[in-house]
Amino acid sequence: MKVGKNKVVTLTYVLRYDNEKGEVVQEVNESKPFVHLFGAGTLLPAFEENLDNLNPGDTFAFHLSADEAYGESSDKAIIELDKSIFEIDGQIDGDLVAVGKMVAMQDENGRPLDGKVLAIKEESVVMDFNHPLAGKNLYFTGEIKEVREATEEELSHGHVHGHGGVEH
Ligand code: ZN
Repeated sequence: MKVGKNKVVTLTYVLRYDNEKGEVVQEVNESKPFVHLFGAGTLLPAFEENLDNLNPGDTFAFHLSADEAYGESSDKAIIELDKSIFEIDGQIDGDLVAVGKMVAMQDENGRPLDGKVLAIKEESVVMDFNHPLAGKNLYFTGEIKEVREATEEELSHGHVHGHGGVEH
């Protein structure tokens, strides 16, 4: 069965910056492969385009420019927030909020959004909400391991159930 919309695809991959000699950013191997519902809109469209129509056992190697991936980093995503937002009982927990740390927050619609602490000032905290891979050219290599039909339930939920997926 080929990779395509509404298929559950299991794959392994190595993500590097720029090209085959680039620094390894992420490695997903067979002990814990990546399982995802193809065409559900949860992955980068350019990533899925490069996997479309492949068969189990096929390998892949492709580039994504920063534009095709997570976009350029933007000064607009660097935001100074009132320090009180981070305080618990009037105190900042230095284990959670410190320069260089990623902090799990929410946007105005309640969606999860991770930001990196750039600076802690007297009255404010400067946060960078750019995607960690913003501005980076990416290079993926990997192998398609398995392709199966998604179940009705998976399609209605928009994600994979069972092995490698959501258990609920
Ligand atoms: Zn579900």
